[in-house]
Amino acid sequence: MAGAVTTAGYAVLPASGPWRAILYGISAFTCVALVVVATRRYRPQHPSTWYAIAAGSALWVLSSLILRVTGADPWSLVAGLLSAAGYPLLGWTLVGMIRGRARADGRTVLIDAGILGAGLALLYWTFVIGDTLTDGTVDGGDQLLASLFAVGDISVIVLVSLLVTTPGARTSSYRLMLGALTLTGVSDILVMAAPSGELYQGGPADLTLVLSSFVIAAAALHPSMRRLTVPLDRPPAFVRPRLALLAVAILLAPTVSLYQGATGTISRDWLATGLCSIVLFVLVTLRMVGLVARVESQARTLSVLVNKDPLTGLANRRRWDERLDAALAHGTLTGDPLIVALFDLDHFKRYNDTYGHPAGDELLKDAAVAWRTGLRRDDVLARYGGEEFCLLLTGYSEPEARVVVERLLAVTPYGQTFSAGLARWDGTQSAAELLEKADQLMYASKSAGRAQVTSDFVPAVSDTHTALARHG
Ligand code: GH3
Ligand code: MG
Ligand code: MG
Repeated sequence: MAGAVTTAGYAVLPASGPWRAILYGISAFTCVALVVVATRRYRPQHPSTWYAIAAGSALWVLSSLILRVTGADPWSLVAGLLSAAGYPLLGWTLVGMIRGRARADGRTVLIDAGILGAGLALLYWTFVIGDTLTDGTVDGGDQLLASLFAVGDISVIVLVSLLVTTPGARTSSYRLMLGALTLTGVSDILVMAAPSGELYQGGPADLTLVLSSFVIAAAALHPSMRRLTVPLDRPPAFVRPRLALLAVAILLAPTVSLYQGATGTISRDWLATGLCSIVLFVLVTLRMVGLVARVESQARTLSVLVNKDPLTGLANRRRWDERLDAALAHGTLTGDPLIVALFDLDHFKRYNDTYGHPAGDELLKDAAVAWRTGLRRDDVLARYGGEEFCLLLTGYSEPEARVVVERLLAVTPYGQTFSAGLARWDGTQSAAELLEKADQLMYASKSAGRAQVTSDFVPAVSDTHTALARHG
């Protein structure tokens, strides 16, 4: 409200005399002070983001006041340089907001900024500063200022574009900040478009500038300012708006070429257009390489996750089902023998109740390591669920398989035991039938007093000895 009243008051003040400059100076510096006060009061996570915009605004106000009061050389160059010095500070604020809100790695943001910047640089060169910079009659100071402002404007447009395509809380403070930046940008464009001399006459360019100070102060005073530089808890996928933005940037170079071809001005800018096109295509390719690499690494992580039991690191039920199906299919072709063991820790509930659930977890983990150590690489050991495990043995004779499982029983840590069922595949059973058989045999072990292995085949004593010799 203060901003609206002040802006209206400013508009009715006489253009001649010092009154406008005084009102602008007082109100704008008060707004800068309010940003500092708000930052000290709310203590946001990255206060420099706010101090930087306060400092940048102060420089712009100062520069504007110098122009209002003197307006003549050499002061206009000083004012121009002060104003240019505000850009890095605004850049600091914008980068702080983007980095605070984004979780993306810096490289991605840098490439995106490069793509947008290259596209905009071409536009600026072609339509805004190309003539000034190639015209030998233009003063060196003016050329310097034109270049500085071009770099500053391009950077701000790039950073604001990245900011609005970065996920983050769309709070009041955020909207006010964007509003202030928009007002400043509109004011800049109006200044460029206005005939010189009309600058401080209370026209639209002047009024938007006066109002923008208040909007920045409002952004800082709103309590949601603390959330401006923090990421959302769960950011939404925000790839599409960013990609749309990048697509527009890539199309700028060929569009400029077409425009120049159509208007017959191609001769001047072929170098700029060619170089920008190359930079754009290289950057976009880099960005795509980054995306592909990310997808590949996610695919690798996922394939590990879906096949692995997180607690023990063994194969999980899903992987087990796959491996068993494959082994049965292979066995059907070759007739190779195939044996499945199912085993279940004994009195594990009691173990949990006695030593606590975390200790139970430790037992599961350590048992998995101990068992795995005693197996061959081709043997599939999986966590079937809870404290039940399953083992797929191919290429073992029946007595050998039994010895293998008895050894696992012997190395189970912390003096614990399991009961196992050992079933031989008859060459026609389905996976489910084979597992059910093993399950029945496992329950036979439980009823017979636990800590033992029951199989549907009885090994001859001499076989066991041969098997022990071979396995050991
Ligand atoms: P039995 O000898 O008859 O198999 O007795 P049991 O106590 O082992 O069998 P029961 O099925 O009654 O209990 C199994 C216990 O396993 C109950 C459950 O809390 C525990 N359990 C299952 N998964 C986990 C796990 O991931 N971690 C821990 N710590 N305990 C688990
Ligand atoms: Mg059990
Ligand atoms: Mg059980």
